[in-house]
Amino acid sequence: MSLKYCQGPLCHTYYTQDRLKGQKGNKTNQTRRRTSLYYGEFCDTRCQYDWLSKYATMAVNHFGRLTEVKHLTEQNAWVKDYDWSNDYDTKTFVFRNHITKETRPITEEQYNDNNYELNTI
Ligand SMILES: [Zn+2]
Repeated sequence: MSLKYCQGPLCHTYYTQDRLKGQKGNKTNQTRRRTSLYYGEFCDTRCQYDWLSKYATMAVNHFGRLTEVKHLTEQNAWVKDYDWSNDYDTKTFVFRNHITKETRPITEEQYNDNNYELNTI
């Protein structure tokens, strides 16, 4: 299984026992690597914050800077949500409009799919 490297630019500079790797007498602090990282591309929130501090402005300029306010409207007020059954045994997945309070059922698969969007037009 391949290991993922923490993308924190300062990860190797933090002193923890698990970062100290190498042969006896020649150990160095190294970037953390794991089969899976709990914080997306990072080993912890400190490394996530370090990356944001260094690259957030570049990332915003690259992917598009917000230059005017956005408004919450009936058309864009849809969010994924779920309701528990009365015995808290099962969840019912829905799209819920936070302005009109309308709900539309979706499947659990659609709920978990980050690319799935409700066609509200
Ligand atoms: Zn890290």
